[in-house]
Parts: sequence; structure tokens; C-alpha cells
Amino acid sequence: ATIDIEQRVQEIYNEVVRKNPAEPEFHQAVREVFFSIIPLLKKNPIYLEEKLLERIVEPERQIVFRVPWVDDKGEIHVNRGFRIEFNSALGPYKGGLRFHPSVNFGVIKFLGFEQIFKNSLTDLPIGGAKGGADFDPKGKSDKEIMLFCQSFMTELYRHLGENTDVPAGDIGVGSREIGYLFGQYKRITNKFEAGVITGKGLRYGGSAVRTEATGYGLVFFVDEMLKTINETFEGKTCVVSGSGNVAIYTVEKIHQLGGKVIAVSDSDGYIYDKEGIDLDLLKQLKEVERRRVKDYIPYHKHAIYKPNGNIWEIPCDIALPCATQNELDENDAEMLVKNGVIAIAEGANMPCTPAAIRVFEKAKVLFGPGKAANGGGVATSALEMEQNAGKTRWDFEYTENKLKKIMQGIFRRCSQAAIEYGFPNNYIVGANIEGFKKVADAMIE
Ligand code: GLU
Repeated sequence: ATIDIEQRVQEIYNEVVRKNPAEPEFHQAVREVFFSIIPLLKKNPIYLEEKLLERIVEPERQIVFRVPWVDDKGEIHVNRGFRIEFNSALGPYKGGLRFHPSVNFGVIKFLGFEQIFKNSLTDLPIGGAKGGADFDPKGKSDKEIMLFCQSFMTELYRHLGENTDVPAGDIGVGSREIGYLFGQYKRITNKFEAGVITGKGLRYGGSAVRTEATGYGLVFFVDEMLKTINETFEGKTCVVSGSGNVAIYTVEKIHQLGGKVIAVSDSDGYIYDKEGIDLDLLKQLKEVERRRVKDYIPYHKHAIYKPNGNIWEIPCDIALPCATQNELDENDAEMLVKNGVIAIAEGANMPCTPAAIRVFEKAKVLFGPGKAANGGGVATSALEMEQNAGKTRWDFEYTENKLKKIMQGIFRRCSQAAIEYGFPNNYIVGANIEGFKKVADAMIE
């Protein structure tokens, strides 16, 4: 019977690949979930009998649309917009929007698929979705960004609603873009429907801690992992890839907890500062001036900039990939392990390749998968929705405390599920089983 189940899962997976050609990221995300929940399927044949695997990989609704816009020179451009409303078993569709040239069907589908289980793990009432466009915000003027966001929302608004589908940010979509998107939604619908989008500015319905949430949450999650080996962040050397919203607030919380982040990066290269990254400067460069990490060097001559450098070659105790999918491969993982890393956790969505994860598993180092470790962002989005629905707002301290409790809850559920199904300390198995089970049971009910 055991062999049968594995074979059956393989067949269903093969069918997913056949039906969704040329979507390698989606296949990768599905494969990880399918094969890590085999212990659950063995105990509960009902999930296979009721075709839960076949049902869960098929998005409830997929929207693809044209986004035309005009640049500052008067030239016309056309981008492709996406919104994949993947699963609403637990609540309204919820997940971010990504504006990046690499965006395509497979990328949005993998992100939407991951979002289902991530959102389920938070134990908050949110379904899974993702969207975005193959638009490159790099080098665009503020006005071009605004026109793009308005055009994007002019199509998307009809599919949204505080009880229907609630987007937020992701790569290339921060508070500026959310403001333009929300403004356009408000004009078109003539409604101040605050709960229709999250990540809003604090003046018009945003939540305290939403900006910091993914990074802070990641560090809270890692802190829980470290406790299991009687360790803390105090005195630890950390490497954080990326330099966007997730990376910046990961660095901030690590520094608050007494750790030291010595390197961050962008798609051009990394900076290494052995005295610890100067966070005020990084924030000024990235959040205010929208510049590159290499611009850090003139302010700190002792720091090193390595164009095209591989950030994972830097020895560290804790490695936190916070840039993008598949940014850390098998060789990087081997380097990190050889250099004595004790913990890795995914701040980005699916940043570690399957082969890299196998290296970490073999080395028995702590590993926090994205759908558990980076769930703090969407969890705080759900808190934003809760405040909007109650027409109220909470202060920073209260909200941060809620986030911390949520991350501890996610960790506890992953860890207990991993033990219950015979893979103690394997938080990938724990996260996937726990995340899947809740959605699947809701679908059956
Ligand atoms: N884009 C974030 C994620 O990957 C946040 C989504 C949200 O807040 O809805 O989870």
C-alpha cells in the first residue's frame, strides 16, 4: 500500500507537469508539497480518494490581462498582468502582487500555490492568491509607476473586494505602488473600501508593523528554531541576501536581538561590511533614494563591494536568503555548510533549490522553509484586514506582539506536525503537512 501511495502521487505529479507545460517553478513548488505530505496521505487515504491533490493544484480562477501605459516620452508600452485566485477554502483570496520582468504564468502560479499553504499555516482566515505583471520598475519615473499602477488597477478592480480578493505587495510593489493602486480602486468604485488591499500607508488604513512584518517575522521564526538547540541571535554573524523590504527589516530585527549582519546584496552584487551593515544608510539608499547597494561604499570606505559576487561564499552562522526564487543552489549550500552555518531560513519565496535543501537536510542544520518562515508579512496583512473591518487601529507594540505570537504559533504547528508524522525537526514536512491538512479538510467540509 505504501508503494501504491508513492506511485499514485508520482502519477498525479506527472499529470500536473503534462497539463502545465513550461512552468518549472510551479512544478518545483508542487513537487515539494506532494512528496513531503506522503506521510499524511499514508495515514489518511481520504485525501487521495477525494482527489484533493488534483483539486488543489488547479487554481479556482486565473485572470490574465493587458496593461497598456504611456511613458514620459509619450511612447506606448504593453505589459501582461496576472491574478491567480488559487484557493478560497479558508477565506478571501490573499497574496501579493509582483512587478518584475521575470513574471510569467509559472512564476505567479508557484507563488500562488505556496501562498495557499503559507496562509493556512498562519491560522488566520485567508485563502491563497498571487498576481503581478512582467513590468520592470527599474529606472522608471514616479509618474510612469503611477500610470502603470492605475492602468493595472483599471482592469483588476472588478475582480477584487474586501471579501473576495485582497492583494498586497511583493517584489517591485511597495507602499508607493499600493497607494497608487488603492487610489485608483477608490476612484473607480467610489468606495473607501480599506480592506481591499493591504500594505497601505499608515495615514489611510495601513497597519503598524506591516512594513517590518516579513523581516521581523522571519527573525522571530529563526529565534524559535535556535531555541531548540539552546542558541540565540546574540553574537551571531548573519548573511542576508537582497536589500528590499524583507532584507532591510530582517537586518533591523537581527541587530535588535544582538546579532550582526555583515552582508546584503542586490541583483548586481553584494556588499560586505565586517563591522555590521549600517542600516540607517541602507534604508536611506534603498527606501528613500531608490539606489543600489554599491552606493554604500563611498560612505563606508572599509566595506567591500563585489560586483556579480556570490554572497553565500561569506562564512556565517545564520544565512537568510531574502531576494528571490532559486537564488541559493547546491554549491552555495555546500559552501555554507563547510563554513559552519547553523541555521538557514527562507525570507524570499522558494529561494533555495531542491538540491540545496537536500544538502542542508543531510548536514542536519536548522532549515526554515519560506511558507513558514516568511509568513509574517501576510499574517500582518490579515491583521490589517481585521483592523480595517473593525474600523480601528492598533499601536506598534501591540501589533508586533501579535506578530511574534503568530510566528511562534506557526513554528509550534510545524514542529508538532513534523513529530507527529515521524520527521522530527523537519520543518518542511511539518509546514507542508500542517498547511495542506487545514485547507484540504476545509475543502472536504
Ligand atoms: N507578498 C507577500 C508574501 O509572499 C505578502 C502577501 C500579502 O501580504 O498578502 O507572502
